[in-house]
Amino acid sequence: MRNLQIMQSIKCQLLDLWIKNAGKPLTAIEYLELFNGVMLREFNIKKIEYLNAENDVLYPLTTSDISNGIPCTSLTPHLEQRHRSHHLLIKTLKRYFEYAGDVLVLKGNGEILGILIIEDTPIWNSFAQTPYVADLEKLLSDMFRVIKNSWKNTYEKKLNRELFEMTEVFHSTMDVNHILEAMIHGVKRIFPKFNSKLILSNDQDRRGIENVYVFDYLLERPSTIEAFVSGEMTIDHASDIDSRLLNAPIKGKQGIYGVLQIFTPIDYRFSPREKKFIQHLTQISGNALENAKLYHQSHRLVSDLQLINETSQRLNMKLNKEEILSFLTKQLNKSFTPSEICFALLDDDQFQNAKGTSAFFYQEEARVYKNYIAKHFASSTDPLFVAEFDSLIEQKVAYNSMMVVPIIIREKVQGYCAILHLDPYYFSFDSFKLMQSLIRHSSLAISNILLREQLQEMVDRDYLTKLYARKYLDRYVENSMEEDEYGAFVLLDIDNFKMINDTFGHQTGDFILKTIGNQLQLSIQDQGICARWGGEEMAIYLPNKDANDAIEIVRKIIKLIPNVTEPSVTLSSGIAEWHNDLDLTYQHLLKNADIALYEAKNSGKNRYCLFQSISS
Ligand code: GH3
Ligand code: MG
Ligand code: MG
Repeated sequence: MRNLQIMQSIKCQLLDLWIKNAGKPLTAIEYLELFNGVMLREFNIKKIEYLNAENDVLYPLTTSDISNGIPCTSLTPHLEQRHRSHHLLIKTLKRYFEYAGDVLVLKGNGEILGILIIEDTPIWNSFAQTPYVADLEKLLSDMFRVIKNSWKNTYEKKLNRELFEMTEVFHSTMDVNHILEAMIHGVKRIFPKFNSKLILSNDQDRRGIENVYVFDYLLERPSTIEAFVSGEMTIDHASDIDSRLLNAPIKGKQGIYGVLQIFTPIDYRFSPREKKFIQHLTQISGNALENAKLYHQSHRLVSDLQLINETSQRLNMKLNKEEILSFLTKQLNKSFTPSEICFALLDDDQFQNAKGTSAFFYQEEARVYKNYIAKHFASSTDPLFVAEFDSLIEQKVAYNSMMVVPIIIREKVQGYCAILHLDPYYFSFDSFKLMQSLIRHSSLAISNILLREQLQEMVDRDYLTKLYARKYLDRYVENSMEEDEYGAFVLLDIDNFKMINDTFGHQTGDFILKTIGNQLQLSIQDQGICARWGGEEMAIYLPNKDANDAIEIVRKIIKLIPNVTEPSVTLSSGIAEWHNDLDLTYQHLLKNADIALYEAKNSGKNRYCLFQSISS
């Protein structure tokens, strides 16, 4: 009798709840709380949980510990034949909910809607012995069927609203990152329990967005590659990662841009509605990505053309090597925002840093890059595009992105331009193509300048001693006499050189000339210049040095040369100075030095004379 009353009381309370809340969009948890109130009043049950069945997986409403859900299959056949193996079902559930004392299995049209787990209390236990429990189960089943239907409608509305909002975002932006973020967040809102990833083909600019990865043919799962290649959604029963994986290709009109991956529990089945939603989502995002890509491509093409055009115009102007390299440095910085830049040109079979090269490339840390590049160009003329330098070499390095384009002159690599960035995958393939175009356009101009420099060098230098030629010296001294306030001119002549030639042969004579040329350059460095005056005579010009400075230098040279020549030779020298107060021409200066040299020869050789004041 008591149990009949309980049953009737429950019915009345549920009806009350129903009427009171009709039309209110209560959430599942709110429904459960109201129902919990009824169970507390009637049976003193405090703990209760509802597990909702979604595509064969049971998800608890309130505990997030079991966010992967409990597959229905692990509970069947207990769910089917409740009364016969009821205790087994409870035993299984106790693993997840230790308070589980009884279970009500709610069904509609033969399908499981969900299960209610309840604590057992004395009042409940006595109620559960009666047939009323079956009535209660039936009543709750009917009620939950209606509630679930309303959830379904709410869910349907949610999907549509989500699609609508995403479409709005996609229409309002041409920013690829923005589109990808909207997509990731949309999927997360619709499937909060599942992990998802975007795998994009790598010509996309996609930096630093969570859950967005680059498509890697070697590493992706076959089902992902299949979705990417075929353009059809695939579902992978991935027992190795204990997941079921849905791969949805992100398709535009012109191509496939990547794959959306959603990882679910292994027993989860996507409903046709959910699949349709995912298809819809990947389709609108594919179109949005495609539009954004085309938009940026056309902008980039225009600015690339402008850049190449500006560069060509500049290179047609008469610039010297330094001017060209600084101009290119400016363009590279503007277009690619690299961390470091290097221009290297071949000199004596070695790549040497040229103007425009950043300080980093003069440091020891740069050696690993320079060696790698030199090794590459030893056997190839191809440019280099590196996204992760770390993975190519043994050691850890700071800069991971690198683009190197050779400067090719007459089919040979005569130099290169390299740019670096700290971040891996920093440079896009488009910028690589642009850099090649930029350097190729500049190669001809650089080549012309290098040839001109080589030619000038040949004209300016004496081929045997590598000292400056007389013409160059003339220009240099005349220029100094115009611009500086004073200077010293030194003539040097090898003593008895005819005899050396006659005794040891011309070749030995040549070798001695070369040795002396070298020694002079080492002694003078950047204090002035050394030149071959003619025959076995050489000259030194020292701008902004007076007679005393010159004597100091020449004395050392005269002392040094007999020790470094084999056979040993001595030098005689004539020194002449000029300053602004003496009204001297270059011709006079030469003549004075010549007179002093004559004095040195006449007074015993192996000595110097200063013009006018004669010393030894
Ligand atoms: P001194 O200057 O002490 O008066 O005697 P010298 O023997 O050095 O003087 P002279 O001017 O008579 O001879 C210069 C010699 O230098 C003649 C020539 O054979 C030699 N000579 C000039 N140019 C070269 C050269 O390029 N190579 C070699 N091996 N010898 C040269
Ligand atoms: Mg001579
Ligand atoms: Mg001589």
